[in-house]
Amino acid sequence: MNSHASQGTDDLVWGNISDAELLDVQSEHLLTEPKSIIPGPDSHDCGVSEKRDVASERAKGTGLAVSATVKENRPCPTPKRKRDPASTPMERFFRRSLNVTMLCKQTWCEMQAVYSLELPLVAKRELERAEVKAGASVHLARELEVHEVVPVRAVTREDRQAINLLNLLGMIPVLQAGGVVRELPVFGVLEGVYMVGVIDELHYSDRGELVLSELKTRRHSSLPREAQAKGHRLQVGLYKLLFDGLVRGFLTRDDFVEHLRLRLEQPLGAAVLQHAGKLGFQVTTLGDLLDVLLLNLRYCELPGIDVLRLEYRHQDSGLALGSQDVPFDEDLLRAELRNLLSYWTGRREPRGVDIEEAWKCGMCAYEKHCQWRGEQLQGSVTLHTDKKPK
Ligand code: SF4
Repeated sequence: MNSHASQGTDDLVWGNISDAELLDVQSEHLLTEPKSIIPGPDSHDCGVSEKRDVASERAKGTGLAVSATVKENRPCPTPKRKRDPASTPMERFFRRSLNVTMLCKQTWCEMQAVYSLELPLVAKRELERAEVKAGASVHLARELEVHEVVPVRAVTREDRQAINLLNLLGMIPVLQAGGVVRELPVFGVLEGVYMVGVIDELHYSDRGELVLSELKTRRHSSLPREAQAKGHRLQVGLYKLLFDGLVRGFLTRDDFVEHLRLRLEQPLGAAVLQHAGKLGFQVTTLGDLLDVLLLNLRYCELPGIDVLRLEYRHQDSGLALGSQDVPFDEDLLRAELRNLLSYWTGRREPRGVDIEEAWKCGMCAYEKHCQWRGEQLQGSVTLHTDKKPK
């Protein structure tokens, strides 16, 4: 049984968008950051529903630059970035955690990832595209093959986090018994930042290896090019780091207090307590539930992930397009992660695409707003002028 947090109608609009789904859209070059669903202030919260919550938080606005309403057939003003030099992007965007999909989005275009936060209404419009919804429904259908999805009303951030923990707790015994789990929430601190994600599927191979399988649905019947594939590789690599960290006991109570600022003594809502009771957990607070999870993780004796596999399917026909096993090099992965996080922690400015990848701008929903794009164009004109013979 997998529980989804339920909060209101916003969830219905933004629901069903999975990590993987978001990336798929990007991989289809539809991009505008479809997966634009980005971790909101509370996004660390609940597994599959976490993404939904994040999105709804985003849709409601968080005091960011939501004001840049897009109007058809009119040039949109470029939003002014008001930057407090003393604050980091994590602080400016009220982030206590980052979603893995946000970092994968960065590998496509960092400026686009930033615009997805500054212009959430543009991102929302993309999420309502038919292709995005179609990809999301594929993931939901797969989840329903192995889980019953139960809506649980979450009132507080602590409630949503509790649902996340319950989802993970419910999947540990399935993995211990050699079964298949889907939409497994993973979380933890990597390189000093609390990160969250949702693994599409974990199962055991015939040789007893624990295999992570990430499904990518594609609009075109072809495998992705390198520009998209590198984000997919990063995604599964980070999931492995997070999952392995959980089963090795790296998660601590302090992570929830220091990074997420959650109130562990906060009594959980009635619906969450009822759901926990049905699963056999008699708890009162988030701290109680966290203690149960930490104990389970300490003694679960689950292995780390052995195989990282990307599976590509055609969205319309459902036909398999191919699969790729991704090599795992922890040093390289962490170096890439540190580089990506250096923007979020305020050590550098965001970057747009290089001139060789300017083709991405042509399919970007933020092109009209993009300062980087404008500066690049200006630069190329200047360069061209400079080269003119006198
Ligand atoms: S216009 Fe180009 S550089 Fe700007 S956000 Fe879009 S893809 Fe990135």
